[in-house]
Amino acid sequence: MDERLLINMPKINVLSNSVADKIAAGEVAERPMSVVKELVENSIDAGADKITVEIKNGGISYISISDNGCGIAADEAEIAFLRHATSKLREVEDLDKISTMGFRGEALASISAVSEVELITRTADEEEGIFIKFSHGKIVEKDIIGCNVGTIMTVKNLFSNVPARMKFLKKDSTESGYVSDVLGRIAMSKPHIAFKLINDGKEIFATSGDGSLANVILKIYGLEYAKSLFDIEYSEGGITLSGVLGKPEISRGNRTRQTVFVNDRYVKNHIISKVIEDGYRNSLMKGKFPFFVINIKIATELVDVNVHPAKTEVKFANEQRLYEIINRAVKNTLYSGKNINENSILDKSPLFNVSMTDPLTAEKNSTKSTAYEDMRHPAFGYNSFQNCEKPIKSDFKSQYKLNIPRLSHSNSQEQSTLNKTEQKSAFEFLDNASEFKNNSVDFSDESKNSINEPKLKVSEKEYFSDSIVIEEINNHSEEKIIGQLFKTYIITEDEHSMYLIDQHAAHERFRFEDLLRKFNEKICIGQILLVPIVMSLTQSEIQVIEKNKDRFARLGFEIEDFGNNSIIIHQVPVETDDAEIKNLVTQLIEIFEHNRNCDITDIELHALETISCKYAIKANKILSEREMQDIVNKLKSLNERGITTCPHGRPIKVAFSKTEIEKMFKRIV
Ligand code: ADP
Ligand code: MG
Repeated sequence: MDERLLINMPKINVLSNSVADKIAAGEVAERPMSVVKELVENSIDAGADKITVEIKNGGISYISISDNGCGIAADEAEIAFLRHATSKLREVEDLDKISTMGFRGEALASISAVSEVELITRTADEEEGIFIKFSHGKIVEKDIIGCNVGTIMTVKNLFSNVPARMKFLKKDSTESGYVSDVLGRIAMSKPHIAFKLINDGKEIFATSGDGSLANVILKIYGLEYAKSLFDIEYSEGGITLSGVLGKPEISRGNRTRQTVFVNDRYVKNHIISKVIEDGYRNSLMKGKFPFFVINIKIATELVDVNVHPAKTEVKFANEQRLYEIINRAVKNTLYSGKNINENSILDKSPLFNVSMTDPLTAEKNSTKSTAYEDMRHPAFGYNSFQNCEKPIKSDFKSQYKLNIPRLSHSNSQEQSTLNKTEQKSAFEFLDNASEFKNNSVDFSDESKNSINEPKLKVSEKEYFSDSIVIEEINNHSEEKIIGQLFKTYIITEDEHSMYLIDQHAAHERFRFEDLLRKFNEKICIGQILLVPIVMSLTQSEIQVIEKNKDRFARLGFEIEDFGNNSIIIHQVPVETDDAEIKNLVTQLIEIFEHNRNCDITDIELHALETISCKYAIKANKILSEREMQDIVNKLKSLNERGITTCPHGRPIKVAFSKTEIEKMFKRIV
């Protein structure tokens, strides 16, 4: 049965002054965007599952919102336009448990005061609908009209009677951009509702309402985004987080593509953004901000939405706890790297089904076991995740199933400006499944084409001995190695692009991953020093080492108290000079001391990151083809986990599309 027909709006009631006074009053009709937001929220509150917004001239001359919601009863239609008339709130106490988008009963009153509004509406109980026309707050026409159940609100000539306000409006295109932004975010908060936006007769986007957030993202931001998402689904202490986290490659120079909802309501909260960003540490470059869409569900009593007129700011009870939970949820997701697109593309494979039902068996069966995943495994004795409730499994599949059309693209402008490389990689991604099957590595002709054949046996050892394990993915993509540039970059090509790979950035990342893997598998990462190092420290520093003895041991150190305020180091995790080792010990002491209260996983990641930096950077190394191939293969498997940078966030690989190159040579314009 159609669920939305069950919505039965309570009668519209004019709030008493005492209730009205408690409401954060303010300007709801500030610009076309705010009008659209208020009216669309009304449609959502009315239980609509199809909402169409049409604007002209940035919404200044025309905004029309039609929905298939419950409609307004004929005898209440006029009342709805009175100030503080609402069907959603009656008493002051109700303010604590607001579950509807609107609650102030102000929107229709203030919008109709500054424009010409036409309302057409009908409820399921009534045979005929009603038409009412307002001009600057006064009724100028009222009639009975034949129409569908639902509501059409048309707002014309906004601010025509308030010239002062007109002055604050920007260019039509800017205003329509705001409208598109706000509707896009609302659409992401309601994947079960089909939204359509038409601007000056042109469809900007239309979501299907199939319940898939990834599909909404596809329509709003394009394929590049939709294919680069991790699903996040986490529940702890009565708080549930759901949504998606973008892979590092779709991060941007600003925060405009970050979306946080609290109980489905879009909010702006810098602290939450920061907490989420913190989870991306060591996979993002400085100045880059991740893409995400997160919905936080929290008991309505614990959040106050009544602090800002536009309702975009909220206050939480026990903020600190909330931030901790968010941080854990994000890290959990990024470290386990559940790639939602991969899941839906490999829809019919056993891996997909297993991972949907039992995360632990899925981990075992997974073709790619990541070091991070292991870190979460209870067998490793970590307690940092112990208070997590089980991941929610229920409607994961249906909610995030992504049906990426093979050849079509979204209507968004962003999509059409994607360059060829990006388009290509999108399709490459879709083809991954078949690549898995068809690949076989053949090193037999290695000697034939080798460029710079192994002059450097030592370096070969270096790249292979402590390499991360790449299971199953012996890929042999179309990415062909061309050679090495400046003894620093590997040049590769595929059908559409040329790539430069920074071998040192790649190497740093491999070492970090390798350290992490060994750490998780409890493989000793230490090397015994031929000549032990004696180091002077303060008593309190020595205390920290004592307190964290096990930790130091797990990180590859063997350290003893040497008396006289000194320690002796017998074993270290990295081969580097004495000064660097001392430096490292000091840094670790500091990490352990200052982050005492942080998540254990956090501290350990931080420590490993610090250790991996200490490897002396070996510049200018000639690589054999095999070494280059190895790097290319490893990068591919890291890429599939969304890792595209060195631990400090520098990019490992850059692309030059064929088109770009042809343009440089003026072969094409
Ligand atoms: P609020 O949303 O805060 O209650 P509004 O001024 O936005 O106040 O709307 C007043 C009332 O009009 C709502 O409480 C609701 O009962 C009714 N209403 C407004 N828009 C719609 C709609 N699209 N469908 C059904 N009812 C609506
Ligand atoms: Mg409202």
